[in-house]
Amino acid sequence: MEQITKAADLELAVKEAKSQNLEIGLVPTMGALHEGHLSLIERALKENDFVVVSLFVNPIQFNNKEDLEKYPRTIDADLNLISSLIERMEGRRAKELLAFTPTVDEMYPQGEPKEVYHFGPVEEVMEGPRRPGHFSGVAVVVRRLFDLAQPRRAYFGEKDYQQIAIIRALLEQIKYPIELVPCPIVRADDGLALSSRNMRLSPEARAIASTINATLEQAAEMAEYEDVDDVKEWVLDTLSTFHEVNPTLCPNDLKFEPEYFEIVDARTLQPIENWDNAGDLGAVGCIAVWLDGVRLIDIVKF
Ligand code: AMP
Repeated sequence: MEQITKAADLELAVKEAKSQNLEIGLVPTMGALHEGHLSLIERALKENDFVVVSLFVNPIQFNNKEDLEKYPRTIDADLNLISSLIERMEGRRAKELLAFTPTVDEMYPQGEPKEVYHFGPVEEVMEGPRRPGHFSGVAVVVRRLFDLAQPRRAYFGEKDYQQIAIIRALLEQIKYPIELVPCPIVRADDGLALSSRNMRLSPEARAIASTINATLEQAAEMAEYEDVDDVKEWVLDTLSTFHEVNPTLCPNDLKFEPEYFEIVDARTLQPIENWDNAGDLGAVGCIAVWLDGVRLIDIVKF
């Protein structure tokens, strides 16, 4: 593994790889790596000759300054995790992994980028209206990474489900021949989707956080015999009333505060009213919940 901090050095390495006809896989991350990120990197190492992992906390995708400041930065530990993944991986195809760890000035040498992306209906639901500018900021950084790394494939986690739809729309707009590879959510043993935010949960909050996934899994079972609206209402009610039903598990006013739970077409992300309205990719339930001052997101496929 080699660590690169300069965009020009990444471009050189990519040029060299391209001259040897190597297929490049890109895994964009914001660092603070965990097994979820490692699953993307592992897959990229298996499916490509050359892998670029970017670790960059992208300021322009944060619409909340405090969230940006609090975002964990753990580059040394991250590089160690990638090295041990490479060591333990047998049968990988990629010969080389570059960890790209640029500064903000290196990524945006002209200062804050002026370009703004619009994606229509896929960004007008769920995270879009609640995090103004977020997806445009994601698109700007991902496009810059696409330009630098010129990947054949790019790996994204289904935990950020709407982000995948946005990247799909971005690729349609810019017409780059890049294969978008969605990767399944990696979970802790109790089912909580791994996230760098989980470390901000108190022990009491962490102990009940698995309720989110458990509730979504039960919702998937209910979907076999209940209407879309009833499943939605049940999920929101179950989480909002959890602290009343389980007071001993919820000391000090601990409670789930759902921001939204939407059941949507998995491709267009538009809410569906009937299960039959879902298109080729089926239906997916997407949730954002506050717990202990931390905003957690998760999904379930129906
Ligand atoms: P982030 O560093 O949070 O921007 O995440 C980088 C990539 O890792 C994104 O494509 C995420 O969707 C993906 N990712 C984050 N958590 C998980 C997880 N638990 N399982 C699978 N992928 C994940």
